[in-house]
Amino acid sequence: TSRFADIQQAPPIEVFHVMKAFADSTHEKKVNLSVGAYRTDEAKPWVLPVVRKVEAELAADMTLNHEYLPILGLESFSTAAAKMLLGASHPAIAEGRMTAVQVLSGTGGLRIAAEFLHRILKYNTFYFSTPTWGNHRLIFTQAGFTDVRQYRYWDGKTKGLDFDGMIEDLQNAPENSVVILHSCAHNPTGVDPTQDQWKKIADVVEERKLFPLFDSAYQGFASGDLDKDAWAVRLFAERGFEMIATQSFSKNFGLYNERVGNLMIVVKDPSVIVPMRSQITLLVRGSYSNPPSHGARIVSRVLNDEALFGEWKECIKIMSGRIIEMRKGLQERLEKLGTPGTWNHITAQIGMFSFTGLSAEQSKYLAEKYHIYLLSSGRINMCGLTTGNIDYVAEAINDAVC
Ligand code: PMP
Repeated sequence: TSRFADIQQAPPIEVFHVMKAFADSTHEKKVNLSVGAYRTDEAKPWVLPVVRKVEAELAADMTLNHEYLPILGLESFSTAAAKMLLGASHPAIAEGRMTAVQVLSGTGGLRIAAEFLHRILKYNTFYFSTPTWGNHRLIFTQAGFTDVRQYRYWDGKTKGLDFDGMIEDLQNAPENSVVILHSCAHNPTGVDPTQDQWKKIADVVEERKLFPLFDSAYQGFASGDLDKDAWAVRLFAERGFEMIATQSFSKNFGLYNERVGNLMIVVKDPSVIVPMRSQITLLVRGSYSNPPSHGARIVSRVLNDEALFGEWKECIKIMSGRIIEMRKGLQERLEKLGTPGTWNHITAQIGMFSFTGLSAEQSKYLAEKYHIYLLSSGRINMCGLTTGNIDYVAEAINDAVC
């Protein structure tokens, strides 16, 4: 018998399962509302024109080569990325209280952050929102955290934020708990705290001496405005917290498979940065040794060049604008059809996803009868909607609800 014979089948990862069901369907009107990636109005992936342009420049640049990057990555990238999140004039940058490291996209940044917090700072409790992006739990437990906790977030009755529940749970958190916060466009609910609510959250994090970790996966992609989408992170930084933020460039640059990410740490005292970076160096060295360069070079060139930066900002406006249009369109159609329930949450929510309030049975019904594929939680990717399929989807949802 094989030494591997006792290995148990691991549970499937739902989103990939649903994507396969979509791929296998031969129905001519099939719709994929599951995948977490941008699609054009033709339901196609989009390479941003500014990315194509820089890629052509990189390909023609004979001074570039495929030597290893440093363990902590391309500095021109990570510094520009941190400035984009904090704001270029943030005092933490001028005072040398910020350090940034290139990592393997948002996921890889969270993993290095979790390992750093667990192994080096010896933190062992982490909190995520109910619900959250499906990977938070796995990343933190695989990094060694054993005390897994949740704070209330989604209120099914109001289809909005359970703010009192969230605050109460954070007030009961033990000191040094790591609190994962979505900096904007919460995945999967699309529900973000208001600015006043963020201030209250910051108060509790301060009072209870919790450690804030911002997961920034959608800056610019949510509202179309980089500063607006960074508001919560900047509030915490201005209030003087020591904190971590992980940045993904998958969505806002459409660089999903290039694994472009940044891990940014703000501290109170610049003298801790050198030893801290030396420990992160060992964590990276022992896991993947050094990051890939292609995507980081693209983002670095764009963020460090005024004209290219302007072109990119137009691209994020196009993506976020299309999503906002689809939100309006879906709400309007459901209201016109008289679909039972309220649908204003579709436009109140922000970012790529909407938590529709559809049940697991209704999701299954949509897949079986209409070949419309979404997660069993009722989460839909707004980019899966197009002017060509939005009527079909609205009518199908109406049928599923009625
Ligand atoms: N955090 C959140 C909330 C996300 O939605 C995602 C992407 N689905 C990520 C992090 C990380 O994505 P990536 O590893 O592609 O940057």
